[in-house]
Amino acid sequence: MKFDWLIVGAGYSGCVLAERIANQLGQRVLILDQRDHIGGNAYDYYNEHGILVHKYGPHIFHTKSKKIWDYLSQFTEWRHYFHHVLGVVEGKKVPIPFNLNSLYALFPPRYAEKLEEQLLEHFGFGVKVPILKLRESASGDLEFLANYIYENVFLRYTTKQWQLKPEELDRGVTGRVPVYISRDNRYFQDPYQAMPKYGYTEMFRQMLAHPNIKILLQTDYREVINDIKFNRMVYTGPIDTFFDYMYGELPYRSLRFQFDTLDQEHYQEVGTVNYPNEYDITRITEQKYLSGQTSPKTTLVMEYPQAYVPGKNDPYYPIPREENRDRYDLYLKEVEKLNGTVIFAGRLAEYKYYDMDQAALRALSLFEKEVAQ
Ligand code: FAD
Ligand code: UDP
Repeated sequence: MKFDWLIVGAGYSGCVLAERIANQLGQRVLILDQRDHIGGNAYDYYNEHGILVHKYGPHIFHTKSKKIWDYLSQFTEWRHYFHHVLGVVEGKKVPIPFNLNSLYALFPPRYAEKLEEQLLEHFGFGVKVPILKLRESASGDLEFLANYIYENVFLRYTTKQWQLKPEELDRGVTGRVPVYISRDNRYFQDPYQAMPKYGYTEMFRQMLAHPNIKILLQTDYREVINDIKFNRMVYTGPIDTFFDYMYGELPYRSLRFQFDTLDQEHYQEVGTVNYPNEYDITRITEQKYLSGQTSPKTTLVMEYPQAYVPGKNDPYYPIPREENRDRYDLYLKEVEKLNGTVIFAGRLAEYKYYDMDQAALRALSLFEKEVAQ
C-alpha cells in the first residue's frame, strides 16, 4: 500500500494534519503512534469506576482563537466549563492566579486595602502582571507583596516542576499565571473555554474517521519506516530523537501521575488545588469537575515532576530557556536540509510549550503553508 503521507504521532498536531490532508486534499495518510491509543497527551478514557480521566494529566481546553474553536467544533460538542484553581499558601486555599481575592484572603483587611490601592495606582484594574515584572517594578509595600507572592506561590512550585528558579526560565513560563488585579477567580479568561462533551479521545476519533486515513498503533516509526511507501512525512515526536541526538539531548521535563479513587462524592472545592510549598507534588486535580459527571466516587490525579529519561518515561514539557533554544536551533538547521520532505510539528518536534489550541493552530497553519500550497 502506498501513502501520500506518513504521520508520526497521533496527538493534536498529527490528528489535525491527518484530518486536513484527507478531507481537504483527498490524499492518503498513514498515522501511527508508539502508544496503544490516539490523542497523544490529551488522551482520556473511562476508568474502572466510570470516571473520565486524563491519562497524561489534566487537560482543560481554552482559546482566544475563533478559528480553532470553529475547527474543533466540527468534531465535538462542548460542555462549557470554567477551570478554577486554588493554591495552598500558609495553610489557606487562595485563588490562583493570585488576584485581589487572594490578597484579602491572606492579609488583614486594612493592609489588603492599602496593597489593593497601590496595585490599582501602579498598574490599574484588570491588568495582568507577571510575577517577575511585579518584582522588578515594585517598591515599598508592593515590593513586600511581590516578594511574598514570589516566595509563596512561585519559587517552590517552579523548583519542583522544572528544577529551576523562575528567573532561570523564559519569563513566559511564570507569565502564564500572572498576578491578576481583578476579582475574576477563573484560571483562564479566554472567550472559548470548554471540555469536549464526550472526551478528547472521541473528538480525535471523529477527526480520523475518514476512509483515506489508516491508523497504526503500538508502532515506533523507526521499526516500519523501511517497509512503508510514502511521499512525505509529518513528525511530531522529540526532534533530538529524530536526528539521533547529533547535537546532544534536548532537555524535557516529565511527570509521574498517581491516580486515586475515593469513596466520597467530592474531595476538594475546585478542579485543581496547587501545593506550591508542601509535598513533592505540584497539584491535585479532581477529574469529575472537568467531566461534569456525578458519581458517589471521585478520582484524583496527583502530579510528581520528574527528570525525563529517554526510554524510561515520557517527555511532556520542553524547558524554555536560552541555552536549550540554541541547541534546538542547531536541529532546526538540519530540518532545513530536508527541503520540506519532513514537516516537524508540535510541542516535542518544535520544542515549544504549546497549549492544545496552539498546537492545533500551528498544525492548521503548517497545512496551509507547507502542505496545501
Ligand atoms: P503529543 O500529544 O505529545 O503527541 C505526540 C505523539 O507522538 C505522542 O502520542 C507520542 O507517543 C508520539 N510519538 C513520539 N515519538 C514517536 C515515535 N518514534 N514513533 C511513533 N510515535 C511517536 N494544553 C492545554 O491547552 N490545556 C491544558 O490544560 C493542558 N494541560 C497539560 C497538562 C500536562 C501534564 C501536559 C504534559 C500537557 C498539557 N497541555 C495542555 C498541553 C497539551 O498536552 C499539548 O499542547 C498537546 O498534547 C500537544 O500535542 P502534540 O501532538 O504536539 O504532542
Ligand atoms: N506556577 C507556579 N505556581 C503556581 C502555578 C504556576 O509557580 O501555583 C508556575 C510554574 O513554573 C508553572 C508555570 O507557572 O510551571 C505555568 O503554570 P501552568 O499552570 O500554566 O502549567 P501547566 O498547566 O502547563 O503545567
